[in-house]
Amino acid sequence: MKLVSFKTGKEERYGAVKEVGETIWNLAALERSFDRKKVLPASLLQLIQEETHMTRLDELVRFGESLGDTASLVYPWRDVTLLPPIPRPVKNIMCVGKNYREHAIEMGSEADIPEHIMIFTKAPTSVTGSMTAIQSHNSLTSQLDYEGELAVIIGEKGINISEKEARRHIFGYTILNDITARDLQKKHKQFFLGKSLDTTCPIGPYIVTADEIEDPESLTITTRVNGEVRQEAPVSDMIFPIGKIIAELSAGMTLEPGDIIATGTPSGVGKGFTPPRFLKSGDKVEISIDRIGTLTNTIQ
Ligand code: MG
Repeated sequence: MKLVSFKTGKEERYGAVKEVGETIWNLAALERSFDRKKVLPASLLQLIQEETHMTRLDELVRFGESLGDTASLVYPWRDVTLLPPIPRPVKNIMCVGKNYREHAIEMGSEADIPEHIMIFTKAPTSVTGSMTAIQSHNSLTSQLDYEGELAVIIGEKGINISEKEARRHIFGYTILNDITARDLQKKHKQFFLGKSLDTTCPIGPYIVTADEIEDPESLTITTRVNGEVRQEAPVSDMIFPIGKIIAELSAGMTLEPGDIIATGTPSGVGKGFTPPRFLKSGDKVEISIDRIGTLTNTIQ
C-alpha cells in the first residue's frame, strides 16, 4: 500500500493512494460508507505508531475497491497539496554518510571510504514534501547540492536489533533528497548546519509499505536535474546494507515507529563534478526509485 499525507484547503489529512497521480482514498468517507465507525487515527505518524490499524485500513481499501462507483470516496490527486508522509518527524532524520563506494571517492579519495558506518542527522524542521519549492538560502550558501536516497521508515520499536531481524522493524520505504549546503558542511567541520536548512529534506511522495518491496536492495536510484541523469545506481551497491544500518543504529539506542533513516547517496552529486555543478534557482530535481515513484522539487 502507498500512504500519502496531504492538504485539502487548510486541513492536513492522509490516505491510501488508489492510483498514483490520479486518486487518493478518502479514509473518512470510506469509514462512513463501510460501518460508520471512526477508528483510524488522525495522522499517518499515529497510524505507523499504532500499526494494528493497518488491518482496518486494508479492510476499508478492499471495501472501496469492491464498489463500482468510487467518485465520492476519493480525492482527485490534482486537488491536493502533497505533504511529507510524516510532516513533523518526532526526531531528527538519521542519515548514513558515504554509504556508496564511488560517492565516498568523489567526495575526496579512496581514503574517504568508511570503515565503520557514518551517521549524522537533519533537523525535523528541514522536511518538505514532493512538488514543493526548496529555498535557495542564497545569503547562507552558494553550494546547494542534491543527494538522492532510499529512506526507511521504522514501524516496530526495538533496541539491539540483529541484522536478521531488521526487516521486521521496517514499516515502509520512501524517497529522500538529502540536500546539502556544501560550503556550510565544510566551514563548520560538522554536517548538522549544512544539512538542516529549512526545506532541504524533501521526502515522499508517499510511503510504500514493506510488504510491497520484498527486496529493497534490488531497487535502483536515479536522480535527474532538469531531465539530465546525474545519479544512477542499484541500492545493492551500499557499503552497509539496510539490515546492517538498523543493527548499528539500534545498538544501545531505541528505534521507534516513525523514525526516518536515509540510507546514503550514490555517486554523481554536484560536488563530484569538475567543475562542481551545484543547484541554482529554477533547477528541477527528480529522484526516482523503481517500485516507489518519483520525488520532485524545484529550487526557488
Ligand atoms: Mg546523504
